[in-house]
Amino acid sequence: MTHHDSPAQRIENLRSQIRHHDHLYYVEARPVISDRDYDALLAELEQLEREHPDLVTSDSPTQRVSGVPIGTFTTAQHTIPMLSLANTYSSQDVADFNQRLMHLLELKDGDAIDYVCELKIDGVAMSLHYVDGVLDRAVTRGDGERGDVVTQNIRTIRAIPLTLSEPVTVEVRGEVYMRHADFLALNQRMVEAGDEPYANARNTTAGTLKQKNTLEVAQRTLQFTAYWLEESPRRPTHMDNIQRLRALGFPTGQDVQQCSGVEDVLRFIETWESQRHALPFQIDGVVIKVNRLALQDDLGSVARSPRWAIAYKYEAEKATSTLLDITLQVGRTGVVTPVAELQPTLLAGSTISRATLHNEDYISDLDLRIGDAVVIEKGGDVIPKVSAVVAEERPATRLPWEFPDVCPCPLQSPLHRPEGEANHYCSHSACPWQIRRRLQHFAARDAMDIDGLGEKAIEQFVAAGLLTTVADIYDLPHRTQEILALDRWAPKSVDRLVAGIAASTQQPFERVLFALGIRFVGEGVAKVLARAFGSMDALLSASTEQLTATHDIGLRIAESIREFATDPTEQSLVDRLQAAGLAMRLDSQTVAATHLTGTTFVLTGELDGLSRREATQMIESCGGKVASSVSAKTNYVVAGSAAGSKLKKAQELGVPVLDQQAFLALISDS
Ligand code: NAD
Repeated sequence: MTHHDSPAQRIENLRSQIRHHDHLYYVEARPVISDRDYDALLAELEQLEREHPDLVTSDSPTQRVSGVPIGTFTTAQHTIPMLSLANTYSSQDVADFNQRLMHLLELKDGDAIDYVCELKIDGVAMSLHYVDGVLDRAVTRGDGERGDVVTQNIRTIRAIPLTLSEPVTVEVRGEVYMRHADFLALNQRMVEAGDEPYANARNTTAGTLKQKNTLEVAQRTLQFTAYWLEESPRRPTHMDNIQRLRALGFPTGQDVQQCSGVEDVLRFIETWESQRHALPFQIDGVVIKVNRLALQDDLGSVARSPRWAIAYKYEAEKATSTLLDITLQVGRTGVVTPVAELQPTLLAGSTISRATLHNEDYISDLDLRIGDAVVIEKGGDVIPKVSAVVAEERPATRLPWEFPDVCPCPLQSPLHRPEGEANHYCSHSACPWQIRRRLQHFAARDAMDIDGLGEKAIEQFVAAGLLTTVADIYDLPHRTQEILALDRWAPKSVDRLVAGIAASTQQPFERVLFALGIRFVGEGVAKVLARAFGSMDALLSASTEQLTATHDIGLRIAESIREFATDPTEQSLVDRLQAAGLAMRLDSQTVAATHLTGTTFVLTGELDGLSRREATQMIESCGGKVASSVSAKTNYVVAGSAAGSKLKKAQELGVPVLDQQAFLALISDS
């Protein structure tokens, strides 16, 4: 902080910093400072504005909620504004909050305010409107006044009922979030596909809700917890509302607790301080709300937050460690990631000895040097990170770290960093580290699922020269003598491996496609491609135009497939896998036995970027049937734009009508 600034200058400076961080946080979903540091800037601004009320302007970040609608969706006005919450970091602040309310409500010493404490799940706030018990509209908070309409994406979340247990017209608010396990799995897939991983589950959730592709949203398994209800006539308390939400079919926090007075509240905070690490999702604090709605009304709200609630935020857990070394990890697409090797240190219940350093810039921004004392923390992130260097402790002789120019594998091929990219790559196709990763991906549970071929075995086989490509896996059954000569291998484990390899030849085509590890072809894309093209031949001979004409396939994916298809090494690999008996086309028998068996659809109107034939294929590949006219036996009518008499008939007969996105969500629901 510069102390020579006038208050007016400092205020302007703070506002512009805050706006910059708001943009990074809300629009780009990639904050660069911690919440605590951000809140400190906001608190300083609030303090200065209190001291200089003449300098307060209506566009100051203290005066309104900072999010913005993203704009690519239609927006809607909130009937009741969606506010932020005042933040605190100390029990003293919580006690002050209670005192303030006691005073405002003119209560006597000895009286206790009834509070409700809830876990503050670190996700994205969502408003849901139900009309006569049916989900009508889902809107993000946006700037608190207007938000984005994201109904189609929200419909894919299973925790959100599409129909309530009673035909009531209500507004429900709650948090959309992601569990640790789902977040980690998603990030792993992103890294393997050569994409940047997400920083934390909250950003990922925000990013997911911005997706235009409902299929992608459906695959990300978002969760929901409800914490607010507007229904007329109103119930007397917040706790009554929570119970009512449960009765209507919403998940609410299991840990919501009624607290009588501030002592009870502080106990709740203390209990969760340690227990929060055992939760399957991220919380960043506790929300404390006045239980009686009439009292909430009396208290009202200030500029950006209600007076009757407050958020107590837990500190990110920090510890100091020593950076012993920086090693490099090579992914299967050749991306090279630097990793911090740390002095093992206990942090938030687990021992941390490694942390990703992402890329060269991350290291130079921190000015990280080997031997440094470093701060590691686990806060909004599940993954621990190196957040700072304790520079005073550094001897002057310690040099900055330089990104190695060769791959750590025995081939030591040169690394390069393409113009405008943050990552370094090893592009040698024979790099044993890349090969190992590709083999691991191929054999993994969600790909070919080869029993007996785990990471350790792969490492051994690569070192022994038994495996250089994934096709070599299918030669292993003929080389059992060589395997038996290796450490740890006995006839029994070899039998298991041979059986595992044989069983993998029964995996369906879409799994084979995914297992090949083509860049940007994840599980979902592999399914779409398998259904759209039907066979490896058809897929690999498709032109870029044919590929991009497929729903959900963009130019980036198409180009990556073309690159694969025209590479002679990959072609001979595919030939060998075919010769080994792997499925190279959709098997109508296996596919037909899936989730839409016995379901009849009628298509009407025009679907966006999806022909009748494609839609029919999608339905049939899930076991469903397409009929030409609507009857009482029709299960669903899929209505595109300009749908006519069939839609009317469906409505008369009470047949459920799906729009395009709901239809795609249903198809992907396998
Ligand atoms: P907030 O996170 O402080 O609190 C309001 C939000 O809490 C609600 O919108 C809702 O999403 C959530 N919530 C979770 N559980 C809840 C419950 N039981 N009841 C009610 N709400 C619940 O406020 P905000 O306005 O969303 O965001 C401001 C926060 O974002 C600040 O804490 C700030 O630290 C952080 N931020 C950080 C940066 C940065 O650069 N690091 C930038 C901008 C904002």
